Amino acid sequence: MFEARFNCLPEEGAQTQNDPLNPRSVRHFPHRDLAKAYASCLALLLFAAGLAACGSSSGPAPSGPAPEPVAALTPATYTFGIQTVGSSSSAQAFTLSNSGNAPLTISSIALSGANAASFTLAAGAEACGTTLAANASCSIYVSFTPTEVANTSATLTITDNTAVTAQTVALSGPATVANGPGQTPDTRAGAMLSLMTQAEKLNMVQGAAPNNNYDYTVPRGAGGWVLGIPRLGIPELYFGDGSVGVNQGIGPATLLPSSIANAASWDLNEATQYGTIIGTELADYGMNVSLCCNINNPGREPRYGRTFETKGEDPILAGKIAAAHISAIQAQHIIGDIKHFSFNDQETGQGTANAVIDDRSGRESDLLAFEIGIADTNVQSVMCAYSLTNGQYNCENSYLLNQVLKGDWAFPGFVMSDWLATHTTVNAALNGLDQEQPDHEYFSQLGAAITAGQVPQSRLDNMAQRILRAMYAEGIFDYPQTIQAIPAAADAAVAQQLEEHGAVLLKNAGNRLPLNASTIQSIAVIGLHADTAVLTGGGSSQVLPSSGVLPGSYYPAVPGWFAVVWALSSPLNAIQAKAPVANVQFADGTDAAAAASLAAASQVAIVFVSQWESEGMDQTTLGLTDLTSATPVDQDALVEAVAAANPNTIVVVESGGAILMPWLDHVRAVLEAWFPGQSGAPAIADLLFGTTNPSGKLPITFPASDSQLPRPVIPQPPDDVTPFDVNFEIEGYNVGYKWFDSQGLTPLFPFGFGLSYTTFSMTNAALANNLASATKPNFQVTFTLTNTGAVAGAEVAQVYLGMPASLNEPPKRLVGWQKVLLQPGASQPVTIEVDQNDSSQPMSYWNTTTDSWQVASGKYTVYLGNSSAMASLTTVGTITVP
Ligand code: BGC
Repeated sequence: MFEARFNCLPEEGAQTQNDPLNPRSVRHFPHRDLAKAYASCLALLLFAAGLAACGSSSGPAPSGPAPEPVAALTPATYTFGIQTVGSSSSAQAFTLSNSGNAPLTISSIALSGANAASFTLAAGAEACGTTLAANASCSIYVSFTPTEVANTSATLTITDNTAVTAQTVALSGPATVANGPGQTPDTRAGAMLSLMTQAEKLNMVQGAAPNNNYDYTVPRGAGGWVLGIPRLGIPELYFGDGSVGVNQGIGPATLLPSSIANAASWDLNEATQYGTIIGTELADYGMNVSLCCNINNPGREPRYGRTFETKGEDPILAGKIAAAHISAIQAQHIIGDIKHFSFNDQETGQGTANAVIDDRSGRESDLLAFEIGIADTNVQSVMCAYSLTNGQYNCENSYLLNQVLKGDWAFPGFVMSDWLATHTTVNAALNGLDQEQPDHEYFSQLGAAITAGQVPQSRLDNMAQRILRAMYAEGIFDYPQTIQAIPAAADAAVAQQLEEHGAVLLKNAGNRLPLNASTIQSIAVIGLHADTAVLTGGGSSQVLPSSGVLPGSYYPAVPGWFAVVWALSSPLNAIQAKAPVANVQFADGTDAAAAASLAAASQVAIVFVSQWESEGMDQTTLGLTDLTSATPVDQDALVEAVAAANPNTIVVVESGGAILMPWLDHVRAVLEAWFPGQSGAPAIADLLFGTTNPSGKLPITFPASDSQLPRPVIPQPPDDVTPFDVNFEIEGYNVGYKWFDSQGLTPLFPFGFGLSYTTFSMTNAALANNLASATKPNFQVTFTLTNTGAVAGAEVAQVYLGMPASLNEPPKRLVGWQKVLLQPGASQPVTIEVDQNDSSQPMSYWNTTTDSWQVASGKYTVYLGNSSAMASLTTVGTITVP
């Protein structure tokens, strides 16, 4: 069953890596020698053949319980064909025949052998009685109920009055692992491990793609694949990317608004819906391992080309949103993943950037987001990053993998490498890597390393145990998948809702928005592809939207890592649909003067600006840079020209993260739509016309200039292979808004900020100090939230904490929030509880002396408001910890 799946050459109909739809067609991994590809492929075929042979060594396949007449008690061998999924067992029958002329006396029927307890003589056995007449037959029933491990053999002994010695029947059941009371993923994994050969264990810890070859195809279009072991009923693993929807190589899927847009909802229910769509669609395509969720921190480097995949700059918000995503994905019986561990916060020199960071800074920033994401879920896998931390490659970084992840956090799952991020065999295995992906360049040599005594056998056993336990924990054994069509229409509707709740209204001077469909007569819609499509983020998270792709997408086809994809979803049509009687006209913005004259002739001008970003690259500046056209459009100049022509200019931004807005003072309104997903256009139209009231809040700071960043220029690699330092100690734990606060810098828009078409008040704020509680030390902020405006809307109330001065912490940190929807004029009492012992360590700092989280003595100040800007916060009170 292996041969059809080891395709060194593309299968007919399969996605190949030279397909422009496939991101890997243009990926470069300079440290790998592609010329070795075919030799590797041959080796893999041999490896697979070995496994297949191994799989057949247990004898012929079960043939079913067809009665087999035998001469008087001639021994017969019967192999059971029992499937023990769950706690089931089934009875099997075979026939005893007396072909003699005289009655036969059966003296005894008995089971024996070390594993006899797994077999039972079922009630029907007695039907044979003690006498079997001449030329008669009777049936004996034996059931097989494994206790823990498949105890595959026992002996049935039948003694009759003619036998010189007792007649025996060898019984065997399939190797399997029982499930039932008392069994856990760990015990089941341990039981399975005890059945495995060394080759089978090695199979579990390596990807099945041919070494050094990105021209591979994997069944189901998966990004990675681990061979199953049929002999033991171990299913294959199919790995699918899913940061913003199912990866394009797998098939058309729902392109959700960017992950950062979902974080901007500040709503864990929305995050659950986000994860549910990804999880169900991955399952529908037959994936059982998800390569979501990117929780790297764009607060360190807002020009990070994968910002759109992240959950923002605050470790607590990001950790909680990621946890909701992961739990929802794993609820679909898919192994979840959290990535890229760790400090992989820039793409420039993706594989060689060495993050220099001290322990406390790391623990209180990037690592805290992972700690929450892991503690709040039972996420089963962690992907180690390409880059280095403090001089060690992350995929062989003992501090990160053994000490922090598996030690301090007691992570029971497995660490998989990012794709081709493994550098060694022995170091990687010893320092905590459990699975090489997507190939086996290094871990194919693990068996030899064990034989040579360089890696203990116990380490391989632990690697395989971790992977198996993940499979048991998520039901990979117990819930076989059904490949079926995705519910495209229903999921597209959810995608629209997610965008409407994640877009952020950044400016609305004179309440120019929402637009009034009944009075507006003319609208100019301006901007690249704003007549047909919305922009998507590039890289391994690229989705092939089920709504379709704009013809002419995939610019540039070569070279580069990934191509630009525009998802069909027409802002022009969606706006026209909202204002059917208005004259809605379009200019693509390539000619600023033409766009300005259209704007001048219209009541309102809506300019769509976009900033493409992708894995494999960073922005060189936060300033708008058109990377999508052969002749780049100067979008800042376009906005200025349009704004000069029409005072009612509204800008809709499609970006993965923060951009600079030199024209901000000249436009009336700005809506940050992120990469809005395949239902983006109707969502944006709903927001512009007030069908939906914006309620998103920024999960990242929008800087006023590149010069405000900790590193105004991104550190550059000297070449493709030499590690180079990126000093993250400049900002340390002061990431994102904490950096701006600590430096006294005023950003363009602060973290947590977002406008609404209504207004809110927070009154009667009070602080309850329950830190003395032995069971649940906490404090609570209570207040009355009132919608003081004329339309329904949702506000995100945010609680920040100022730490004791002695700690030298940033001025404040987010510790809690709540999103509340209120009808106009309605009030609601709200309580935001901050649990001192929560996984987010809201009151703690990392004590490097004790190597643990600690709540320091001193005075804490509690703030309440609707953004991180001091001006929008009020002091609720202080808490003194003795
Ligand atoms: C990315 C990962 C992704 C993997 C598989 C890598 O290049 O960094 O995020 O999961 O490819 O596609």
